[in-house]
Amino acid sequence: MKAKGDIRAIDELGRIVVPKTFRRILGIEAGDMLEMNLNDDGEIVITKATPSCVFCGGTVELRELEKKHICSKCVKKLSE
Ligand SMILES: [Zn+2]
Repeated sequence: MKAKGDIRAIDELGRIVVPKTFRRILGIEAGDMLEMNLNDDGEIVITKATPSCVFCGGTVELRELEKKHICSKCVKKLSE
């Protein structure tokens, strides 16, 4: 999948709008977290962030609390 050619202006606060067609194709909704990286070619790469545990960075068996994710292993450690 290669969608390109959409040119957007950046506003005075550095914000841009992700095109609606891109959001629809990638299943990005309001409130989703996006990760931005600058690659060696000087390009900004934006990807949908994968939720991870705030303590260990794990991505399996996550629970959400106050908009933060915690894995089941860390929940168990916290309860001990
Ligand atoms: Zn964890």
